[in-house]
Amino acid sequence: MEQMELESILLPGVDPKRPIVIAGPCSAESEEQVMETAHGLASKGIKIFRAGIWKPRTKPGGFEGIGVIGLPWLKKVKEETGMYVATEVATKDHVFEALKAGIDILWIGARTSANPFAVQEIADALKGVDIPVLIKNPVNPDLELWIGAFQRLYGAGIKRLGAIHRGFSSYDKKIYRNLPLWHIPIELRRRMPNLPIFCDPSHIGGKRELIAPLCQQAMDLNFDGLIIESHRDPDAAWSDAAQQITPDVLDYVLNLLVIRDSTQTTENLSELRKQIDGIDEQLLELLAKRMRVSREIGVYKKEHNMPILQAPRYSEILEKRSDMGSQMDLNPEFIKEILKEIHEESVRQQMIIMNEE
Ligand code: PEP
Ligand code: MN
Repeated sequence: MEQMELESILLPGVDPKRPIVIAGPCSAESEEQVMETAHGLASKGIKIFRAGIWKPRTKPGGFEGIGVIGLPWLKKVKEETGMYVATEVATKDHVFEALKAGIDILWIGARTSANPFAVQEIADALKGVDIPVLIKNPVNPDLELWIGAFQRLYGAGIKRLGAIHRGFSSYDKKIYRNLPLWHIPIELRRRMPNLPIFCDPSHIGGKRELIAPLCQQAMDLNFDGLIIESHRDPDAAWSDAAQQITPDVLDYVLNLLVIRDSTQTTENLSELRKQIDGIDEQLLELLAKRMRVSREIGVYKKEHNMPILQAPRYSEILEKRSDMGSQMDLNPEFIKEILKEIHEESVRQQMIIMNEE
C-alpha cells in the first residue's frame, strides 16, 4: 500500500513552480478581516487562500473558530479574488459543511492526524469525492502514524494528497514552538517520493522572525510549497497572533527566497558523487569487519564467562575517538553519536552469541 498512485494537487491556474504558496489567516474572524486579508494576498499574486473555520484549541475558553457562518466569506473570497480556498476539517460534519460551501482544498490538522479514528472518519466522509487533501504531521514525531493517515485517505479513493510539515510538539519550547525535526519530512520524501510536501513555518516557528529562515530551509530541502499564516492586522489576530504576518511582509519574504535548481547535474557533481559512493562502500566494508571482530570478542567473553558490557572500555572508546575526530576536523558530538550506535549494535551481536546454545 505504501506506493500510492497519487495525482497532482495542482488546481488549474496554479503555477507548478516551487514554492506553491498557500496563505491566509490562522482563523476567519469576521467578513471584513477575511476579505481585506484576501484582497491583500490576491494583489501579491497568491492563488490559494487559507483560513481556519473550526479551531482545535489546547484549552477550553479560547476562540474555537467562527464556525459555519464563516463559510460564505470564503465563498466570497473565491468570487471576488479568484483564489482557491482551503480550510481545516476535523470531523465528518466539517467535511460535509466544507464540501457544501465549495471549499477547494481540505487539510487535516496536527491534533487530528494523531488520531486514527478521527482520520478514518474524515476518510469515510470523503469516499467518492475528488478533492485535494493536505495532511499535517501528527503533533508527535511518528512518521508511521503520518503515513498511516495518507493510507486511510488513499484507501477512501483520495488521490490528490499532499503533506504539511508543521513541526513536532515538545515539552521544552526554546527556539521553536514546534521542533522542525527535518529528518522526518526528509524520510517521508524517501518513502513517498511523489507526495508534495509543504512547510508551515508559522506553526514551526511560532514567531514572525523565524518565518523567512524556515521558508529558506524548506526550499533548500526541495519542499514543494509553503503554507503561511497571514493577517491584515497580525497583532490583533484572535489566534496565533505572534506568528502571523501581513500580506506585504509575506510578499517581501517570498521575494527574498533563493530557489535552487533541483534538476541540474553537472559533471563535477557526478564525479564527486562517485567518490562518495566509493567512500560509503569502504565505510560499509570496515563496519562489516569491525562487527566480525566484535563477534569474535563475544565468543571470547562467553568462553571466559565475562559480561558483555565493559563500561570503562566503552567510555574510553568514546572519549579517545571523539578527540581523534576533532583533530581530523570532525564534529566530536557527531563522532560520539556514530560510535554509540556502532557500540549498541556490537552489544546486540554479542548478546546473540551469549544466548546461542
Ligand atoms: C492551523 O493551521 O492554524 C493549525 C491549527 O495548525 P496545526 O494543526 O498545525 O496546529
Ligand atoms: Mn494557526
